[in-house]
Amino acid sequence: MHWLRQTHWRILAALALGIVWGVAATFAGLSRFTGDWITPFGTIFLRLLLLIAVPLVLASLVTGVASLANLQKLSRIGGKTIAIYLATTLVALVIGLLVVNVVEPGASIPESLRLSLQEAYEGDVAQRQATADQMERGPLQPLVDMVPENIVSAASNNRSMLSVVFAALLLGVALMLLPRDQARPLLDLFESVNAAIIKIVEIILVVAPLGVFSLIAGTITSVAGDNPDDVAQLLGALGLYCVCVLVGLAIHAFLVYPILLRTLTPITPFPFLRGVAPAQLVAFSTSSSAATLPVSMETAEHNLGVSEEVTSFVLPLGATINMDGTAVYMSVAAVFIAQTLGIGLDMAAQATIVFTALLASIGTAAVPSAGIVMLVIVLEAIGVPVAGIALIFGVDRILDMCRTTTNVTGDLMVATVVAASERQLTATPVNGLASWMATTAGD
Ligand code: ASP
Repeated sequence: MHWLRQTHWRILAALALGIVWGVAATFAGLSRFTGDWITPFGTIFLRLLLLIAVPLVLASLVTGVASLANLQKLSRIGGKTIAIYLATTLVALVIGLLVVNVVEPGASIPESLRLSLQEAYEGDVAQRQATADQMERGPLQPLVDMVPENIVSAASNNRSMLSVVFAALLLGVALMLLPRDQARPLLDLFESVNAAIIKIVEIILVVAPLGVFSLIAGTITSVAGDNPDDVAQLLGALGLYCVCVLVGLAIHAFLVYPILLRTLTPITPFPFLRGVAPAQLVAFSTSSSAATLPVSMETAEHNLGVSEEVTSFVLPLGATINMDGTAVYMSVAAVFIAQTLGIGLDMAAQATIVFTALLASIGTAAVPSAGIVMLVIVLEAIGVPVAGIALIFGVDRILDMCRTTTNVTGDLMVATVVAASERQLTATPVNGLASWMATTAGD
């Protein structure tokens, strides 16, 4: 079975086995066993990836920016990247709103289920709300949060990744502007840190299948417990809402991205999807763009042939600020909750959703469940009771896996577009894909 030698097939096989184990364990009453003896390996895998997220963002952005020869190049590539990130997120929000307004999933939730769900998740909601309340929330607060008071405390917390990005960009620009001999020692240090981390990624990827298996098996058993009926009923009732989020994500990933790829790059959607599959699978099983970043960078360079210069600038930035999947999810979830509570939303309220969810998705930490915390901001902006989150809490983990996959796919799509526009899609031997791209790249 030579195909098992390829990382993404091994990860996919582990994913399938993990699902089979999770479902079987639920029926066999082995949820406790899974939680005690299997889930910890998934947690270790997730921690290994998160462990390197901050140094990776710091090192790759500092070296990435400093390597961009001059401010002119930085503003060209940076401007282009941020413009596409914002534009695709706006499109994602509009798609989410269209789907949820057409399907109206909120109308189908029975009153009794709504009440029991609210009761069941009251504690969780209160806890999440308390976390969100800690942040002062004005419309410009995300901008203020971006600038750290103290880089060490920002770097010690995976939830303040945007601050790390800001500090890294600032340091990168300073090193770019300094005379080369003064900048050299620090640059050498960061380059060496970068290389060491990429080596660590290769090591971690060897155990990725075990990590993915454990994460998926653990997720299924923790949602279902030892009672498959409960989860079936819950998923059945919220099915339409999930379908709306998934349809929105699918339209964005399988219609919008391919259109952009086709019009702006020489790569066609199918080889692109094949190339990015390892990153998508890790995103799906970790629910964290930050944890997936090392793998995204690997796949961008090796499977898509995106240059190191573009990869090390576009992807760390994207993992932090570009969350198209989260944007689709936020717009669907906000309207769904309003619908179930019988609150009508006019055009102004829907426009408010677009504006606040745009900022909220940028500010969302690239870690599991961050999106549902930020949803509080959107709900408050449109005057929908935050307790309504209880309705969707039970299915959030599954949707988180899917929206994170879209988030990461979006980052990789933008990296490909930016690389193509900079003539930086280079040939590499892996998959024959990049070399194929190089031969089809029109000059
Ligand atoms: N888990 C998502 C990510 O890391 C963020 C979210 O919760 O929407 O991309």
